[in-house]
Amino acid sequence: MSLRILVTNDDGIYAPGLWALVAELERIAQVIVVAPDREQSAMGTSVTLRHPLRVNRVRPLLEGVEAYSVEGTPADSVILALGTLIEDGVDMVVSGINEGANLGSDVFISGTVGAAFQGHLRGLPAIALSVAAFGDLHLDTAARLAALLAGKMSAKALPPDILLNVNVPNLPPDEIKGIEITRLAPHSYTDVVEEGHDGKRKCYWIVRGQPQRNMDKGTDVWAVSSDIISILPIGSDLSTAPAPSSLKDLCSQLFHDLRSKR
Ligand code: MN
Repeated sequence: MSLRILVTNDDGIYAPGLWALVAELERIAQVIVVAPDREQSAMGTSVTLRHPLRVNRVRPLLEGVEAYSVEGTPADSVILALGTLIEDGVDMVVSGINEGANLGSDVFISGTVGAAFQGHLRGLPAIALSVAAFGDLHLDTAARLAALLAGKMSAKALPPDILLNVNVPNLPPDEIKGIEITRLAPHSYTDVVEEGHDGKRKCYWIVRGQPQRNMDKGTDVWAVSSDIISILPIGSDLSTAPAPSSLKDLCSQLFHDLRSKR
């Protein structure tokens, strides 16, 4: 087995989504896990420059998987993984499976995307993978899709440094209505500021507002709310990169493979 995949996330190294992903990718690749030691959601592309970073080799939830926790951000984890921890390198980076969607302007704050971005910056194909729900997740759908996409990437069916932000509706594979290449919705959430009190003084919470009902056809928000898997190629400047034609052709093939029994 020659394919090697770095798996990371922003929900922390023991998040169920990460290990569902590892279990599926292990069928086709050697998986190495390097991930934050605790939840680091919404850390975006943040990199730790002013503190030392500690790394621990940890007990994997799946026997035989090399796993390291990092006392840092998702981006730190990938930088350390590719810079020093993994001597022989990897062929691609997969970040997730995140609990909760990363749609529209979320890509600018998402630690899941931020981690994948570090892989992309180092010339590797990278996938950020999220399920659009909190609690009771259908991790199987996203995990299978990740393995199918990784297979296509290793078969060189996609550009070598492509960065994909993939959002999967929270449904079993046979209820997914399609897979589409999308563009970023202009907004998905409005951040709301709430006032609180910490017992001594006033404080503030930045809280997630309700997703705006942006139903413009072709956007990532539209896809997920239509029970369609959104695959969004992101450029290095975090613009929506034009989808390579190979990727468009792959979608119907991926959809077929996702729904077929193995
Ligand atoms: Mn998260």
